[in-house]
Amino acid sequence: MAKEELECSFCGRKKPETSLLIAGLDAHICDRCIEQAHGIVIEESKQSGNSELSSELMLKKPKEIKGFLDEYIIGQENTKRVMSVAVYNHYKRLLQPPSDDDIEIQKSNIIMVGQTGTGKTLMAKTISKMLNVPLAIVDATVLTEAGYVGEDVESILTRLLQAADYNLEKAERGIVFIDEIDKIARKSDNPSITRDVSGEGVQQALLKLLEGTVVNVPPKGGRKHPDQKFIEVNTENILFIAGGAFDGIERAISKRLNMQAMGYSAMKTDTIDKDNILQYIIPKDLKDFGLIPEIIGRLPVLTYMDPLDAKTLRAILTEPKNAIIKQYKKLFEMDDVEFTITDGALDYIVGKAIEYKLGARGLRSLCEEILTEAMFELPSSDETKLNVTKTFAEDRLNKSTLKKLKAVS
Ligand code: ADP
Repeated sequence: MAKEELECSFCGRKKPETSLLIAGLDAHICDRCIEQAHGIVIEESKQSGNSELSSELMLKKPKEIKGFLDEYIIGQENTKRVMSVAVYNHYKRLLQPPSDDDIEIQKSNIIMVGQTGTGKTLMAKTISKMLNVPLAIVDATVLTEAGYVGEDVESILTRLLQAADYNLEKAERGIVFIDEIDKIARKSDNPSITRDVSGEGVQQALLKLLEGTVVNVPPKGGRKHPDQKFIEVNTENILFIAGGAFDGIERAISKRLNMQAMGYSAMKTDTIDKDNILQYIIPKDLKDFGLIPEIIGRLPVLTYMDPLDAKTLRAILTEPKNAIIKQYKKLFEMDDVEFTITDGALDYIVGKAIEYKLGARGLRSLCEEILTEAMFELPSSDETKLNVTKTFAEDRLNKSTLKKLKAVS
């Protein structure tokens, strides 16, 4: 076909009458028809009520979600898989078109049990980053029942609104990470908790949020008072992720497992992996710890974090997309200093983190101790290289510990 004979297969306009004519396999489409078609697509998806959501959220399948988590989080295979499915199902639930089959998909709120510093917060942060939805991280220890000194549970939603720049629609499909959920366990079931205010009231208050309800939220936080303006937030589509260390729960799980082994259960004590008891956790263990059954029911996805061994800590230092060592490399690069670190030094840092029981969080502070002086000196010097060896690291740490001891004495 000669060039001037080309025409839009939709409206029939000839090529010279259009600003743009795009060729398909056997057809062409002009700029105006593209615009019109785009308008129809937007209209259609608005009618099904999930215009922005569908394009943003439905892009990733569980395996892709896990792939994203893998880039940032080392190990924790089980939790990453469980999270990927829970998050996928949660957003599938949001996108389900109204149907008349009465099958209502329930929320897949999540509870993660694991030692501090094993990556629970990182998991929630990474998911929110991937989905591009607002995230509020709140500490359950500051929450109290109305009437006591502390924060009302509604303050959680204030935080979420703030994280969403007060865009209500965004906040209503955001993620809330409630850390230290174990600290609001009922005292009577768990004598080791020494809280003035019984956690049960807080659990009851939280329950409403988890269930899905419309809450009057003071936009600036603080206590509610009568002449304050509120924002109504619907929590139905907010994904709640709770995390806690549940100190001592391993002992209870072991005890339960031993009892089972003595009974008729198929689980024999010699098949139990004693280094990772948390993997056997069941909802009943949470109840025995002091969470009320209703809360457990509203956090139906239960998962656990593996303890971090030396190999994992070593990988955390260098492998994730924004690994600590990569960050230092970048910082030094900005001063035209080539930063390298030997395997021996990395192993030494990991060893110290384990020795001081600092977990993954300690890796960062150890690196800071080792590198601060270099970061102070090198920018004003002619040095173009910094190679951190085990001896260098040892030397720095010894000096900094000495300094601290001196300061104390
Ligand atoms: P938690 O919430 O379980 O106490 P965090 O998520 O706050 O632990 O982890 C503390 C820090 O340790 C994170 O900022 C992260 O850098 C690092 N970290 C912990 N676990 C991992 C992991 N599995 N993979 C990568 N980094 C981790």
